Amino acid sequence: MPKLKIKTGDNVKVIAGKDKGKQGKVLAAFPQENKLIVDGVNVAVKHQKPRNAQDKGGKVNINLKIDVSDVQLVCPSCKKPSRVGFKVVNGEKVRFCKKCKKVVDAKVSAEVKSQVKAEAKTETTKTEKKEPAKTTAAKTSTKATTAKTTTTKTTTKKAEQGK
Ligand SMILES: [Zn+2]
Repeated sequence: MPKLKIKTGDNVKVIAGKDKGKQGKVLAAFPQENKLIVDGVNVAVKHQKPRNAQDKGGKVNINLKIDVSDVQLVCPSCKKPSRVGFKVVNGEKVRFCKKCKKVVDAKVSAEVKSQVKAEAKTETTKTEKKEPAKTTAAKTSTKATTAKTTTTKTTTKKAEQGK
């Protein structure tokens, strides 16, 4: 079973073809054909004839398949169209954005986050035995430092007034 780098529910940007520059959500993925159906991309108008009295018929927009190589994943983290890489986190293959290196698969990243949280909890729940702190009564003898008041002799120079 071939795996696409783009999955249903992803936000993609069209980088080639007549709808170049458009962005849309992947409605369906066809890994066998390397094709996708993207909302609002490669839309064909189908003219329908009225089948019965209630059905007025008319134009129906249908999304046609596009080649997976014509789109790039829009990273949910950095909001940029970027290439996708694969890495293994906790034994599970996840996709990551090659621009910001963040895991694209929100579901998996949430699971990984919860696992990390669980690990953190088990670490912190270790019973810490608090040893009674020996209160050493250190008698702080306040030495009354007799401040030697040095009497500064102010030599008042008698300003000789030369008249
Ligand atoms: Zn990114």
